[in-house]
Amino acid sequence: MSSSDEREPVAGRPVLFRNGLVLTMDDAHTVLPGADVLVVGERIAEVGVGLAAPDGALEIDASGGIIMPGMIDTHRHMWQTAMRGYGADWTLTQYFVWYYLESGKLFRPEDVYAGNLLAAIESIDAGVTTTVDWSHGLQTPQHADAAVDALEAVPGRFVLAYGNIQQGPWEWATSPGFRDFVERRVHRGDDMLGFQLAFDVTGDPAFPEKAAFEVARELDVPVTTHAGVWGATNDDGIRLMHEGGFMTPSTVYVHAATLTPDSYHRIAATGGSVSVSTESEQSAGQGYPPTWQLRHHDIPVSLSMDTSVWWSGDLFSAMRTTLGADRSREHLEAHGRQETITHCHLRAEQVVEWATRGGSRALGLDASVGSLEAGKKADVVLIKNDHSPAMFPILNPYGHVAFQAQRGDVHSVVINGRLVKREHRLVGIDLAKARDGVQATIEHLMSSMGADAWTKGMNPDIPATKVLDNPYTYTAWDAGTAQWKH
Ligand SMILES: [Zn+2]
Repeated sequence: MSSSDEREPVAGRPVLFRNGLVLTMDDAHTVLPGADVLVVGERIAEVGVGLAAPDGALEIDASGGIIMPGMIDTHRHMWQTAMRGYGADWTLTQYFVWYYLESGKLFRPEDVYAGNLLAAIESIDAGVTTTVDWSHGLQTPQHADAAVDALEAVPGRFVLAYGNIQQGPWEWATSPGFRDFVERRVHRGDDMLGFQLAFDVTGDPAFPEKAAFEVARELDVPVTTHAGVWGATNDDGIRLMHEGGFMTPSTVYVHAATLTPDSYHRIAATGGSVSVSTESEQSAGQGYPPTWQLRHHDIPVSLSMDTSVWWSGDLFSAMRTTLGADRSREHLEAHGRQETITHCHLRAEQVVEWATRGGSRALGLDASVGSLEAGKKADVVLIKNDHSPAMFPILNPYGHVAFQAQRGDVHSVVINGRLVKREHRLVGIDLAKARDGVQATIEHLMSSMGADAWTKGMNPDIPATKVLDNPYTYTAWDAGTAQWKH
């Protein structure tokens, strides 16, 4: 007998998702209506219809819901979540001034911890079971320890992408402190906490970043880099990487939005992938979200949310906005040629693939996660909300995930076999403590900057808008003559 009536999950207890619409995201994209997913230990034991419940299994009624693999975000600056929403009206210019030039160095290790902790909790709550922490605020190894401490305090799957915008990568990546950190905190083969090097290539012909690439090669860890960012990185950086032999299948190119075909050819030829942050590219100005170009080069795509200083850690948003941006560009280009797009290239199914398998492949984790298949590690998300009118009818499940569902509909989440969210509530997470940490960081930043600078930083000037002369405007109605005044 199953014991689905018991309210509290017990560690090690099998979990059986019962009678949901299962998007396996296997290679054939098998969709199973009215199916079950059985989790035993850390792994998926079985996916199918009418599975027998093992003794002691916790059954979760998935009827009316969609069961899918956990989503994967391949680029998020999690430390910045401590300033959630602060930069909603920024462009990249304000972002660079704030973090790189003026105030980013105010972050202490405890502030990195606070941001990471809240971001990590947000991820698992939203069904993002793997998140790359593009952690470029690691001014000291103590900051890096704090980043990892936070990631290890939350039962999600993470990749620490180590970076430091306060130094050149040739400085920090070759420092004894960095090497000591790697020896202490990075454990090869740990699929709960992976490791990458995170730095950008400016295109300086002297190619000083070469030293950091050599460290990555020696450590045999991937590099993730903001590439093709308008005004910051460009084709020169890609060319230098390529000529140096540093472009590999594990390299992740973030944005890759302002590049010429030559760079895309080099990325495609060396097997790397692009992490597309559509909401970021649209608002901040890295360049137009590049998926409409990437398909012509057959370059693999994963999705990311970049930073919660503008946006949330919500891959539903990433899927939705990526579909919109890609289709918008296709229509716009066609209209410029006096043509009509009658069939969209980018499908909802494709963005669900990018949010799952796209990420697992980009991170070298595809043998472990990314799909619901027996034997894989169990990262499972149930999207179900019986109180939402938007969860019925479910006719096109991929379209439903991309355009109808939202993170409030994430009902239950299993990561590495462990139930971390159940019936819309996180399990065993101290959100109040995370909130207190973030509050302390905000108070520290406000007092260090001063109230005026804090307020000014959040409210950049608005350029003047010139309202055009309108030849059709006859604005005044003369009530006395009951006529328009000319
Ligand atoms: Zn970024």
